[in-house]
Order: sequence, then C-alpha cells, then structure tokens
Amino acid sequence: MKYITVLGSTGSIGTQTLEIACELPDKFKVVALSAGKNIDLLTEQTIKHQPEVIAIEDENLLEELKNNINNLEIETPPLVISGKEGINAVAAWDTADTVITGIVGCAGLIPTMSAINAGKNIALANKETLIAAGSVVIPALNEKKSRLLPADSEHSAIFQCLQGLPHYENADFSTGEIPQGLKAIHLTASGGAFRNWAVDDLKHVTVADATSHPNWDMGKKITVDSATLMNKGLEVIEAHYLFGTPYENIEIVIHPQSIIHSMIEMDDSSVLAQLGWPDMKLPILYAMSWPERYKTNWKRLNLSKISELTFKKPDKEKYPCMELAYAAGKHSGTMPAVLNAANEIAVEMFLQEQISFLDIPKFIEKACEKHLKDISKSPNLDEIIKFDEWARIFVKEEIKKSIKYIESK
Ligand code: NDP
Repeated sequence: MKYITVLGSTGSIGTQTLEIACELPDKFKVVALSAGKNIDLLTEQTIKHQPEVIAIEDENLLEELKNNINNLEIETPPLVISGKEGINAVAAWDTADTVITGIVGCAGLIPTMSAINAGKNIALANKETLIAAGSVVIPALNEKKSRLLPADSEHSAIFQCLQGLPHYENADFSTGEIPQGLKAIHLTASGGAFRNWAVDDLKHVTVADATSHPNWDMGKKITVDSATLMNKGLEVIEAHYLFGTPYENIEIVIHPQSIIHSMIEMDDSSVLAQLGWPDMKLPILYAMSWPERYKTNWKRLNLSKISELTFKKPDKEKYPCMELAYAAGKHSGTMPAVLNAANEIAVEMFLQEQISFLDIPKFIEKACEKHLKDISKSPNLDEIIKFDEWARIFVKEEIKKSIKYIESK
C-alpha cells in the first residue's frame, strides 16, 4: 500500500490521480489533498477518500470549507487548513510516502520543495517546477534522498524506455548524470489545436479554439501551451534536467496520433519507444506504482485498428515558443524561470482576451531579452523566485503599455 498526497486534487491531473486511487484501493490510500479554490469538489473528494488533512490555497474560503466538512457525516473529519503554508504542510504531510504534484504553474515550486525536504517521493506532473528551478530541485533530491518519478507522458515514456539500459535499475535522476548508453531523446508532440491551420490563420485564433485539444483532455493553461508548442519547449528543458541530456540531443517530432509518447536513441543507433492511447492515467499510475506494474482494465492498444502512425518536423515559423524555450534552456541559470513566468502571464492574459494568440511569444521574447543582462548562472531558490516575480511584473507592464498604445490610436 502506498500512502499518497495529491497537490492540485481538483484539477485534471488531480482528479485522474484520484480515479486511479478509487480503481486500485488495495494499492493506494489518499492521506492528504490540496486545491486552489474549488471547495465543492474538494469536499466531494473528502467524502470519497477520507484523507487526514485537506488544504485550500485561497484563505478566504477556509471558513466555508470548514463548514462544509463539519456538516459531513464522516467518522474522522480531516484537519482543514489554508494558504500557502497550508499547501506546504500538506506537501510534507507525515504519513504520506508519495506526493503527486498536480498544481499548475510555478505555484507548485515551493510545495514540491517542501515535499522533497520532507523526504517524499515525487510523482511530478507540475513541469513548471523543474523548468524554473531544475538547478535547485535536482541537487535537493540528491541531498534528501527523495526520488522523482515523471508523470508527464513524454518523460514517463522516456523513463520507461530507459529501464532497458544497463545500470538503470535504480532510476536515480538526482545525480544529473546522463544514463549510460543514451544518445538522444525524441519527444513526440501532437502539434496541438492548430496543427492543421495555416500560419496566416493564427491571427484569428480565439480562446475557445486554443483551449480545445485534439487528443488530450487537460487543464486550460497546458492546452494553450500545447497550441503554441511552448509545452513541448518546456518539456525539452524538463527532459534536460531529468535525464542530463544536452539540448543538442533532444529533438521534437510532430506525431499527430499521440500513440508513441516519446523515444530514446541509444549509442548503438537502436531506438526504443513507449506506446499507448493518449490517456494521462497511464503515466500517472506508473509514477505512482514504479517499480511495479499494476493490473488495470483500461482500453488495450490495438495497433491493427490504428491505420497509420505519422511523423513530421515541427515548423519553427509557426511555433516560435519552441525556439524560445531551447534558447532559454541553453542560457540556463535564471533564464528558464523567466521564460516560464513570462509564459504563464502571457497565457493568462490571452485567456482573459487581453492579448492575441500571436502576442504570446512576443511578450515572452521581450522578457527573455531584457533578462539577458541580469541572468544569474548558478542561482539559489531565492534568486529564482526573485526573477520569476520580476518577469511576471515585467510582462504585465508591457501588456498594459501595448493596450494603452492600441487604445490611443
Ligand atoms: P488544472 O488547471 O486542471 O489544475 C490545476 C490544479 O492546481 C487545480 O487543482 C487548482 O485548484 C490548483 N491550483 C491552481 N493554482 C494554485 C495555487 N496558486 N496554489 C495551489 N493550488 C493551485 O491543471 P492540470 O491538471 O492540467 O495541470 C497541472 C500540472 O500538470 C501542470 O503543471 C501541467 O503542465 C502538468 N501536466 C498536465 C497534464 C494534463 O493532462 N492535464 C499532462 C502533463 C502535465 P482549483 O481548481 O481548486 O483552483
């Protein structure tokens, strides 16, 4: 039995994790949950899973949540806490051994660090944490003897393929060393919502267009990231930190069917791939069950029913975010944190219809360019947080300026 904490339990990753816990009650017991604002769903989840503690990030909702919980007829009501400290306390909760990080954005960084510092194993979905602070997270894992298991589908695929390499049985990412025999990583990308759109048509993209994904059912932010291909760019940086692979050896390939979840190429030229339906439950389960494989009754892959698997090179003109991410990764230090924070704000502003879809990369590029002269190459956590905050303010100000300019015309 594994005792699990779910951070971001009300989101896409969180709810799928809880479905897995319901399906495999003899394997997983939920002991702690956290959410941002959705107290109704958090209450429902509390009834179903009877955790020891729950936390809501929005402190204004604490009393209402407490009332909800007090009115429930459950044998042992959970402790109910709130705010950033509440989330951190849940992340480090004593009885948990594995923490699934389903918080969206860099808001997941400090809770993930709390979990690592408490020696928990991390099933990492919240990629923004590694993008912003991989240089701090990886050594912390090493120091605290915590294990990080990737729940992102591409990194889970790579991780699964790596099990076939020599001396990889310990799956220890904390050293930052390249697994022996690994030559290159091939990350597959569905191509997102606009894979069949002409570049010129991207001028007319609406929020509704950008938030519907052809293959995956995910939260809004990552769905927009998939449409810009920033998601793939962020995954390049994530792969670099997880597997120690140089950026030159991480390639993106468009694979519209999303059946091959990624591939590794070995020194002897052999390529290994992991296949499955596009369903996040599989990589989440593997991150929770590793090194075991648990039996499920999920839909089996039927290759004879899939008529074709196709691949093509991503179009750099159509997807500038991808190149921005490679560049930020190569600059290293605080640059990936700035890229990530600028992207979070640009996406938020796009979702609020303050900027257009094509504006997203422009504001990210401005923030990265501005940061070039201040970049810190070996930052500590405080510096990372400082520049993350700087980039958020910078992009908001730039967007305000551009809106004023347009209104004045
Ligand atoms: P969602 O938007 O669906 O869910 C986000 C979760 O985080 C919700 O529970 C939300 O709470 C909570 N949350 C939001 N802001 C805060 C905050 N400031 N403090 C604490 N909790 C907060 O996102 P996804 O599940 O899609 O994505 C989660 C992470 O997983 C992202 O990093 C994403 O990149 C990654 N990922 C997601 C995949 C997917 O299929 N969805 C696939 C691969 C990676 P509430 O709703 O209550 O406000």
